[in-house]
Amino acid sequence: MNNRLYGNLIFELSKEGRKGYSLPQNRFGDYEVPKELCRAEDAALPECDELTVVRHYTNLSNNNFGVDTGFYPLGSCTMKYNPKINEEIAAHPQFQNLHPLQPEPTVTGVRAMLMLLEEMLCSLTGLAHFTFKPYAGAHGELTGLMVIDNYHRSRNDLTRKKVIVPDSAHGTNPASAAVCGLEIIEVKSTADGLVDLEDLKRLVSLEGPNIAAMMMTNPNTLGLFETSIPEIAKLIHECGGLMYYDGANLNPMLGACRPGDMGFDVMHINLHKTFSTPHGGGGPGSGPVGVREGLQDFFPFVSPYNGNFGVMMRACVYIISLGRENVKYVGPLATLNANYIKESLKDVYELPIDTTCCHELVFDGLKDKSTGVTTMDVAKRLLDYGYHAPTIYFPLLFHESLMIEPTENESKETLDGFIAVMRKIAEEAKTNPELVKTAPHNTPIGRVDDVLAAKHPITTYRQLLAEKV
Ligand SMILES: *Cc1c(COP(=O)(O)O)cnc(C)c1O
Repeated sequence: MNNRLYGNLIFELSKEGRKGYSLPQNRFGDYEVPKELCRAEDAALPECDELTVVRHYTNLSNNNFGVDTGFYPLGSCTMKYNPKINEEIAAHPQFQNLHPLQPEPTVTGVRAMLMLLEEMLCSLTGLAHFTFKPYAGAHGELTGLMVIDNYHRSRNDLTRKKVIVPDSAHGTNPASAAVCGLEIIEVKSTADGLVDLEDLKRLVSLEGPNIAAMMMTNPNTLGLFETSIPEIAKLIHECGGLMYYDGANLNPMLGACRPGDMGFDVMHINLHKTFSTPHGGGGPGSGPVGVREGLQDFFPFVSPYNGNFGVMMRACVYIISLGRENVKYVGPLATLNANYIKESLKDVYELPIDTTCCHELVFDGLKDKSTGVTTMDVAKRLLDYGYHAPTIYFPLLFHESLMIEPTENESKETLDGFIAVMRKIAEEAKTNPELVKTAPHNTPIGRVDDVLAAKHPITTYRQLLAEKV
């Protein structure tokens, strides 16, 4: 039961005839709006006074959870702190009001900023050129695969239409390959969660002349460092394919190693993950694509302008604020934080692959399976304690995946607080499993039927009234 007036829908607060504004007296005389431009009936809009509107939306905003309100260990998404100086600079009117078609001489400073960012990305990745057109990671993958496809076509190497993707890959990898008109072949993972070299050798000997590229994520989707990259790159290059690096989460690599040095030819970086930018709820993003010298001639046309400028600006400020020396600590600190959590919880949560991880770690649910408490239940119970839930049921390699990424920004105190709560939940699962299974209890609404919400979304007030749910 929700008895808070301002938790209702704005439509439910509507009172006929109530107004939150008054227009100035018409100084221009009457103007007859042409009939064909008028709607047949009045729009069904809520009628509220200004204070009601302000309270309604302020209260709704207080239900938001963000990095600025609490710990947000969402694995694979890198929800790191977004320093306020980034926002301040990106919001400067001279950046915010840029128009893609404004005269060249008025944007020389902006172009200089993009060149500086390109230079910094090249030096962090070991690649030679970047394009800023892609609007997000998946768009970057598509752009990068088009570079590879264009390269093979330019050499009249027209049979190369297959892309090798590890079974642990992010779902966007096979999806991008498919959108690019390429065929996916899956390479298996070993029990240690790394690319299975034997399986890869088999695929290469079977498909050699058809292989356009191999896509890899490093650290991979289990948060593990792929140790055989030089060998893998050699195998793929020898059969004529190119190496693609999914650098969505470049975080743990910063200061540790560079994809260009490992033998990768093409990559994308998710600026919104790696170099901050608030990106919950699906945007905004930026997925610049970097290539080895010589491949820049094959950049495809994927958008008429450079992508989301504000995200690039934030990335640029983030890197400059850290500076050449401090940027080297990003990877090691993100890795240290993840391993600290892993080691502190592995006696109560099932750790299927017990090795040093990089920036994130994956548990396979609670260690004690007899309680019947699932990963979903743990995630919901975390909400009661004021934490955002980790990523759950991804990656798909385990049944009860619980994927935690703390990022480099969090203090030891924050990590200790989270660890204590995770241990408390494990204890509750034993002593009072019902409490965990019916969580959350302290949030404005309880557990929702997310399958129903996805399969049968109710998106308008009219639909809500009609269905009386
Ligand atoms: C987030 C992510 C992507 C997709 O990036 P978007 O910006 O969401 O399109 C691709 N690969 C990996 C490994 C990711 O974590």
